[in-house]
Amino acid sequence: MSDDPETGRLLDTPARRRTLFTALGVGIGVGVVGVPSPAMAAVAGWSNPTRGSLTSGYKTASRPTHTGWDVANSQGTPVYATAAGTVRDIRTNSYPGDTSSGPLPGRSGNSVHLNHADSYFSYYGHLHRVLVSVGQQVSCGQLVGLMGTTGNSTGPHLHFEIHRPRLTSTDPRIFLANRGITLGATAPVGSTGYPSVSQGASGWVPTVIQYLVRARGISVVVDGVFGPACASAVRSFQSGRGLYADGLVGPVTWTALILPLQEGKSGDLVRGLQTALNARGASLLVDGGFGSVTTTAVRSFQSRNDLVADGLVGPVTWSVLI
Ligand SMILES: [Zn+2]
Repeated sequence: MSDDPETGRLLDTPARRRTLFTALGVGIGVGVVGVPSPAMAAVAGWSNPTRGSLTSGYKTASRPTHTGWDVANSQGTPVYATAAGTVRDIRTNSYPGDTSSGPLPGRSGNSVHLNHADSYFSYYGHLHRVLVSVGQQVSCGQLVGLMGTTGNSTGPHLHFEIHRPRLTSTDPRIFLANRGITLGATAPVGSTGYPSVSQGASGWVPTVIQYLVRARGISVVVDGVFGPACASAVRSFQSGRGLYADGLVGPVTWTALILPLQEGKSGDLVRGLQTALNARGASLLVDGGFGSVTTTAVRSFQSRNDLVADGLVGPVTWSVLI
């Protein structure tokens, strides 16, 4: 790791522009197909650790001691185990004031170290939340934390390293590329919970889509039927967000449609949430009001699904709900 402040800001370099172009291309591909290619997502048991834009590289000329890659996205973006393994160590807000001097000392805020088979080792820094505990076995693609900006960091990003053996770092972007994975650009294993929904579908999932689209100010009838009018409304939303406007709601469009929700919010987003909670066993009045009853239903759903039962509906809870 580097002594330099970690940055979640985007770099304006030709390398980054190429990276962004690549990421955009893949993103469009995902939108067209609807689901990421499993072959791209996990080759021989490896997974992308997260999605986002590459903002700082491995051992660059200006940061020769930066032994990982930085992948920036919004706070709360899920971070996944890059391979199956064991949680070796967790550090919590270890910068500033951290005087530890052992292997991989502080600076990276809330961080997780994983041991893998064959002496591989991976490291996830600056997390907003750590969702595993020391000694825990994790599977490839298992959620280990949420992206954040803790520690020596200027914006939400994941600082990601791969070592073999520990303390012998390798370029994680090249390492994953050799396994068919484009760091940050393809959906990690475990993040593909969103179904692909298109014209002809009906039921509670199209109902949720209709509420979420309507919440963005796009007129659509909420009837649970994904007909031509619904597809047209989805295309409007996609166009407005710069997404490929195919009218198909896959992981990319879902991720753009959802917004964090908590008690006190109201409106169609909350109606969408209440509809999904009801489909998952709750008995809520779909009134668009996020009060204590809805919070209790969210906490109950989170507990049943091994999520942090905080009553906050962020990207992780949404992706498990839908
Ligand atoms: Zn970094």
